Amino acid sequence: MSSVGQVIRCKAAVAWESGKPLSIEEVEVAPPQKDEVRIKILFTSLCHTDVYFWDAKGQNPLFPRILGHEAGGIVESVGEGVTDLEPGDHVLPIFTGECKECAHCLSEESNMCDLLRINTDRGEMIHDGKSRFSINGKPIYHFLGTSTFSEYTVVHVGQVAKINPDAPLDKVCVLSCGMSTGFGATVNVAKPKKGQSVAIFGLGAVGLAAAEGARVSGASRIIGVDLNPSRFEQAKKFGVTEFVNPKDHDKPVQEVIAEMTGGGVDRSVECTGSIQAMISAFECVHDGWGVAVLVGVPNKDDAFKTHPVNLLNERTLKGTFFGNYKPRTDIPAVVERYMNQELELDKFITHSVPFSEINKAFELMLAGEGLRCVIRMDA
Ligand code: NAD
Ligand code: ZN
Repeated sequence: MSSVGQVIRCKAAVAWESGKPLSIEEVEVAPPQKDEVRIKILFTSLCHTDVYFWDAKGQNPLFPRILGHEAGGIVESVGEGVTDLEPGDHVLPIFTGECKECAHCLSEESNMCDLLRINTDRGEMIHDGKSRFSINGKPIYHFLGTSTFSEYTVVHVGQVAKINPDAPLDKVCVLSCGMSTGFGATVNVAKPKKGQSVAIFGLGAVGLAAAEGARVSGASRIIGVDLNPSRFEQAKKFGVTEFVNPKDHDKPVQEVIAEMTGGGVDRSVECTGSIQAMISAFECVHDGWGVAVLVGVPNKDDAFKTHPVNLLNERTLKGTFFGNYKPRTDIPAVVERYMNQELELDKFITHSVPFSEINKAFELMLAGEGLRCVIRMDA
């Protein structure tokens, strides 16, 4: 019997309150409304942002909520007005959207859609301000418009990238957030030329994806900077050729890098969220041509301070959101780069658990173990 137009009852991992283990519940998922798509999620992975909003420290707590935003799945049905997707399409839901109509979407340079830009406080669908999830009639909030910790979810069509159906969803699911963010920061924004040197600040999943971007771009030297020495061993697999731990030096890390490179690196990408690392990442690029790109999300009260002469000396400072990728237009091509064996993803997936053990993925991330844990929905 077709489920189109019907409420689907399925399993979802519900966060009832901050910091408490998720509980797997039977939920009701309403059919997709105007400009919405209902997706059967097959694989989802855990990202820091999920843990951040589960913990809800310094956030607007919004519970009960279904978290999750890195995922891959198959379209089950589409709502009114959806013409470019149909049941059976393989898709990645994306936490930030592309309406294809606003000034940002019409600009070649921006991916910061006015309608569907990331909104962490919104818990309902924009069409009618209601949730599509409920338990015994009580609504459960959405997260980032994706809520992928559910066997079925409803997403705005502008937040869905249609991808090659041959792409393995258990691998390419990680492209729906962290890997694209880091990779795009390097290839789309820092744009190192072949043979140039690149410094990566922060060797977590995002920083290692930025290093992967440097490797694919043919960087000659990839200098990894991290305060945690245990990150260095793993980073070797990602083409990082040299390491600097700021704690090992009694001068600022930008001076250490300038000495190592005869004046500074050609490009740097900051993936830490530390304001000190952001300033160092900028000040360590070579004068005359160096470009620094900020990716990390700073604390609320941080301020970036540098002497303006660092800019006058022809250094460029940039920032980026989701690697400057437009989710619907650009992400399918990133999937193709993986299919063509240009970009490697398998090395980012260090763990995998069945859906019933989703809390294990949280434990691994809280313990700082591994990079990405893929959660298998059918297991
Ligand atoms: P992570 O916590 O796994 O890795 C961060 C690394 O930075 C850690 O290894 C840590 O030891 C290191 N670090 C911290 N302070 C440092 C310092 N002062 N100098 C050198 N290293 C330092 O985080 P992640 O998941 O890889 O994410 C990295 C950042 O990217 C976060 O701030 C995250 O919020 C941000 N992010 C941004 C976007 C965007 O679109 N701009 C998207 C996703 C994530
Ligand atoms: Zn838009």
